Amino acid sequence: MIFTKQKDFNFILNLLKGKSKVFLVGCGECATTCKTGGEEEILEMKKKLEEAGKSVTGWVVPESACISSQVKTAMAKNRQALSQAEAVLVFSCGSGTQSFKENDRMNLDVYSGNDTLFAASVDSQGNFTEVCSACGDCILELTEGICPVTRCAKGILNGPCGGQKDGKCEVDRTKDCAWILIYKAKTQKNKTGDLKSVIKTRDYKKSLKPHIAPAKN
Ligand code: SF4
Ligand code: SF4
Repeated sequence: MIFTKQKDFNFILNLLKGKSKVFLVGCGECATTCKTGGEEEILEMKKKLEEAGKSVTGWVVPESACISSQVKTAMAKNRQALSQAEAVLVFSCGSGTQSFKENDRMNLDVYSGNDTLFAASVDSQGNFTEVCSACGDCILELTEGICPVTRCAKGILNGPCGGQKDGKCEVDRTKDCAWILIYKAKTQKNKTGDLKSVIKTRDYKKSLKPHIAPAKN
């Protein structure tokens, strides 16, 4: 899932300077899980904006804000409220905001109410952790399922560097050194010999942006 964080409310008010009528859009997927753009947060934002003197012409939480067909349906159902708005605030990831803008035939002023931070895994306590950077050239089969591209602060493919201390990373001593985690996992499986083989440089062509994957029939 994509982890997002709501922008500071004063920043949002500043974005809306000179505009008094606003339409709000959330997302029923990741932003709902992150509590940055689910129904509850959209209603809370509506209340805060109204207290700040703004008029909310309407709001909608499409099932997935990044899926064009769902955005189109949500827009069609709210055409009148959208046409009255001077700005649209989207509380999803950046893909959702852009999907809304791409489907907007009214040339509305569309702003992101969230910052998009990372692709996350969610543990059983509900904590979000960045574990994959979508590098396009996965090597998890070589690293016991621990991603050094993401979890090593330097993205080193053949670690550890000289800076780890007591298993903690030199860049941030509160975080585990990814390569010590990989070493421990290899030790448990009697596979430390693997570490004598050099992992080849990633193919950076595979991470050229923007990625476009055609639809599968
Ligand atoms: S190696 Fe690349 S694709 Fe695999 S988990 Fe790490 S960042 Fe993601
Ligand atoms: S201490 Fe470990 S995690 Fe930190 S930069 Fe060095 S190899 Fe990477």
